[in-house]
Amino acid sequence: FEVSISALTEAGEGTRHVLLVFRDVSDAHAGESMRRDFVANVSHELKTPLTAVSGFIETLQGPARNDAPARDRFLGMMAQETARMNRLVSDLLSLSRLEGQSRRRPTEVVDLVGVISETMGTLRPGADTNEVQIVTDLPDSAAMPADRDQIIQVITNLVENAIKYGRQPGVVTLSLAHVAREPVIKGPAWQLSVRDAGAGIAPEHIHRLTERFYRVDTDRSRAKGGTGLGLAIVKHIVNRHRGRLRIESVVGQGTEVLVTLPAA
Ligand code: ADP
Repeated sequence: FEVSISALTEAGEGTRHVLLVFRDVSDAHAGESMRRDFVANVSHELKTPLTAVSGFIETLQGPARNDAPARDRFLGMMAQETARMNRLVSDLLSLSRLEGQSRRRPTEVVDLVGVISETMGTLRPGADTNEVQIVTDLPDSAAMPADRDQIIQVITNLVENAIKYGRQPGVVTLSLAHVAREPVIKGPAWQLSVRDAGAGIAPEHIHRLTERFYRVDTDRSRAKGGTGLGLAIVKHIVNRHRGRLRIESVVGQGTEVLVTLPAA
């Protein structure tokens, strides 16, 4: 609480009354502490690859100067670290853009099936590299008001997670189904499901996965090139579309992420 005290005086009289105001500032404090945590997290996430890159530069200037194979190895690692910083900055920009437009609902009508098929084209090479087969189960078309680029981002983040944390070699299933009346949306909806048969997620983590930088296993996420922002971005996009996001997982069996979006 923030407390302020003021004396209430009337003309010709001394102080008769005192006004005490108690203001509940818990929300402001919580917001301030979240902002501080966020800045600390971003700084840490950037500092890790930056430290690695400056270490590689020092090695290249010194001991590895005349060692061609070592030089190639270090340059490869530097490329990996700078790619990670790039992804992190792009994800941060996406988040900040999303926060700026969260109240504006998309109006353009897009065909989800077309968007999914197109996105699969860019995701398949990454799946192939990891020996993951993507199986789709889609209707002929699925019209809905949506922001096309943001839907591409949702599909990309979910499928990339299913590839990263699923079984390798293995299968990822992406399906889209019509729901006549979704109880929370209170109307017709399209339900997108991305399922993997990986290690799964323990129940105590599930409700925290959409927090920025929350990871079940930070080292594993980093090793796979993750930024810890993918699901936070998905959640923002789903909210902007007035949809729902659900994560269902069984440890040892796999994970299914369900995104339900209001149909046109
Ligand atoms: P990241 O960049 O770390 O993948 P995300 O926000 O996309 O960040 O995911 C947050 C965390 O949720 C991941 O670090 C991982 O621990 C967990 N996670 C996400 N998707 C899956 C999945 N399909 N299977 C198991 N764990 C997952």
